[in-house]
Amino acid sequence: MEYRFELPPSQQRVAERLKTALESGGFPQALLITGGAGVGKRALAMQLARALTCVDDEVRPCGKCPYCRAVRPEKGESPWLWVVPLAGDAEKLEKEEVRLELTQKAVAPSMVDPWDVEAFPSKGTVRVESVRDVLRELGRKDVRTRVVLVPEADRMAASSANALLKTLEEVPENCYFVLTTSHAADLLPTVLSRCAKIHLPDATVAEVGEFLERRGISVERLDQLWALAGGSPGQAALMSRESVASARSLAMGLLEWTAADTSLDLAGWWSDFSAARKKSETDEETPRFVVSALASLLDDLMRIVSGLPVRNSEYEERLRALPFARRGADVVRFMHSELLKMERHLGHSVAPERVFLALALKWRNDSPRLDLSLASEEPRK
Ligand SMILES: [Zn+2]
Repeated sequence: MEYRFELPPSQQRVAERLKTALESGGFPQALLITGGAGVGKRALAMQLARALTCVDDEVRPCGKCPYCRAVRPEKGESPWLWVVPLAGDAEKLEKEEVRLELTQKAVAPSMVDPWDVEAFPSKGTVRVESVRDVLRELGRKDVRTRVVLVPEADRMAASSANALLKTLEEVPENCYFVLTTSHAADLLPTVLSRCAKIHLPDATVAEVGEFLERRGISVERLDQLWALAGGSPGQAALMSRESVASARSLAMGLLEWTAADTSLDLAGWWSDFSAARKKSETDEETPRFVVSALASLLDDLMRIVSGLPVRNSEYEERLRALPFARRGADVVRFMHSELLKMERHLGHSVAPERVFLALALKWRNDSPRLDLSLASEEPRK
């Protein structure tokens, strides 16, 4: 039996591991795929689901058998079971037919473009009722191989995760769970411990370039976009829509404000942020791009700490002038973890600029070895 995966070169090692597991017949019945948003986790999960449900004798997935042909992305149809975040009126979602209809509606864009980081409604959660729907389905006698896909598994409410736990511990015969997440730390430890894990590495600059080219997207500074997108093809496609430069400039401004004297005025930053937001396609775009830009700049600060070349080269001088890198890895790590925490609040906020301000203040005041006196320190050199 030959198993086939279409994965970029940087993910070949992952493909080899999966092939070996499939060929050995000991494929894990609960698998968690981790990796950055838009890096291709859902695309891989779907390839796995195809391979697992295909019944061809020679090559899987074959594309010809009834199970392969039952995959119809544009209709959201497949032989697989999906558990996805749903948004909407809680009372309506109590009805099974409403849940199933909304699930199929949400799954369609996700299947058509598995790299789309916005495929599922940003405010939805994975409801416990959806988990129970699938568990009921698995309880029925069936000889077919069944695959349950749980994208964005971190968005499971605690009740949903708990409802899933027992089944993950002892997955019924011929059933496979494939969970994906870009926030593994948000999963219950009990869920984490029951899954085999596989991590998808970031894509290379060339891979992101090819990915964008296939979609007819041309960019001037691919290296910059790649750094900003954190090596994620899906993020890069999203970010190529908006001026990458403005988000980075806002991110740099916020870092400088954090490092500066308290008397420095934030009004300028605030109005630049509002202006960028007005120009963007959706309300959420600018805040999200600024978060990515901050992550990318913090990554560069870490590279400065470690003596590696920076990626956001035109900001190098300004990054080196900041006190954070000089204070060592702990400070930069602290800033990064606060950024991740803040990212979670951002989705629910009507005033994202306030969330950014709170982040900057947190960085300033709670940093392990960073206090206000830093601002007046002489730059190194
Ligand atoms: Zn097939």
